[in-house]
Amino acid sequence: MEKHRKLLKLEKRIKECRRCRLWRIRVNAVPGEGPSNAKIMFLGQNPGRNEDAQGKPFVGMSGKFFEKLLSQIGLERSEVFITGVVKCHTPKNRPPVKDEVEACKPFFLEQIEIIKPRLIVVLGNVALKALFPNEKVSISKSHGKLMRKGQVTCFPTFHPAAGMRFPSIRRKMEEDFKKLEKLVSSARALNT
Ligand code: SF4
Repeated sequence: MEKHRKLLKLEKRIKECRRCRLWRIRVNAVPGEGPSNAKIMFLGQNPGRNEDAQGKPFVGMSGKFFEKLLSQIGLERSEVFITGVVKCHTPKNRPPVKDEVEACKPFFLEQIEIIKPRLIVVLGNVALKALFPNEKVSISKSHGKLMRKGQVTCFPTFHPAAGMRFPSIRRKMEEDFKKLEKLVSSARALNT
């Protein structure tokens, strides 16, 4: 309950945030969604146009693709926490730039701190670099390999938007998700 209350307070701060230029063009900030005691977190990039309109992560086509990937490994959307490193939409869907990531980063770090997931699935380069700023990482080299962030196991893979667009990336993502299935079972089995 304590976690839930903390997440709600954080959500309010995100929705009111004006720390970077992106607040001016958003319809909705997208804090993320999922249970406060989720054992698995998915960390993506930032909201697209549909997400901005609805205030929810991964809706529309990318949401359907994402949910299909989840269902292939027996995961329900309702049991995972889904968020992004940047909480507001960018002009013309461009990737967020460095100062926007830096301004927004404390929010997802706080979400990790509150939820304490056992496993973070890192979706794409922007999220990977934001989570591991002091390491030379790229999603093309790191995908499918386990990494550690403090006590948390991290599993990088591609962003669903890239998987939807490029068949070669989709195939790699599907391979990664097969490996992920085992990690998900272990994370679920933990009671704390
Ligand atoms: S992107 Fe993040 S830091 Fe920038 S205004 Fe939105 S919530 Fe605030």
